[in-house]
Amino acid sequence: MDASHLGDDLTVVLHTEAELHARLAELAREIEADYRDEPPLLVGVLKGAVMVMADLSRELRFHAEMDWMAVSSYGAGTKSSGVVKIMKDLDADLTGRDVLIVEDIIDSGLTLSWLKENLESRGAKSVRICTMLRKPEAMKVDLEVDYVGYDIPVDFVVGYGLDYAERYRNLRDVAILAPHVYSE
Ligand code: 5GP
Ligand code: MG
Ligand code: MG
Repeated sequence: MDASHLGDDLTVVLHTEAELHARLAELAREIEADYRDEPPLLVGVLKGAVMVMADLSRELRFHAEMDWMAVSSYGAGTKSSGVVKIMKDLDADLTGRDVLIVEDIIDSGLTLSWLKENLESRGAKSVRICTMLRKPEAMKVDLEVDYVGYDIPVDFVVGYGLDYAERYRNLRDVAILAPHVYSE
C-alpha cells in the first residue's frame, strides 16, 4: 500500500520505501564489515521490526540466522514505562553468541535498554542494536545504538511495520499520522 491510498490520514511522508531500502543497504555494508569473523544472530522485535528484518536480512551478504521476540512495555497510554513483559521469547540459546537486535523505532529507548540488558544476562558474547528510526529528542536513557537508519522528529509515525491500533503497518513509506486519526 502506498500513501496515496490513505487520503488525509497522513500529513508528511518522512522517508519513502526507496530511501529506506537505500539506507538499509548502507547499514548492511557496515554490519558486514563489523561482523567479518562471525555473522550475528539477528533478533527481531515483533511486530514492528518485520519489514526492517525482511529488507535488512536480504541485503546482508552472509547467512543471516533470525529469531524473534515479542515484548510489551506497560505504561500510561502510548508512552513506554520501561517495565517490559516478554510475550514471546527467543528459540535460540544466546550463550556465546553475537546478537544484533533489529528494531523499527527507538523513542524513549526504555524498551531497548531493558532488552539489551536482558539478552546480555543470557550469556550473549555481544549485543548490538540496529534500528530503522530513532527520535533523539525523545530519548530518556543513555542507550548506545550501533546502527541507525534515520533520526526523525518526535511526531508519531506509521508505516514500514509501524502501526496505529494495528493499522498502517503495510504502508510502504514512513509517514506522520494526521492528528485527526487519534481523536476519531
Ligand atoms: P520506547 O521504549 O523506545 O519508548 O518505545 C519503543 C516502541 O514504542 C516502539 O517499538 C514502537 O512500538 C512504539 N513507538 C514509539 N514511537 C512510535 C511512533 O512514532 N510510531 C509508532 N507506530 N510506534 C511508536
Ligand atoms: Mg518496535
Ligand atoms: Mg505499536
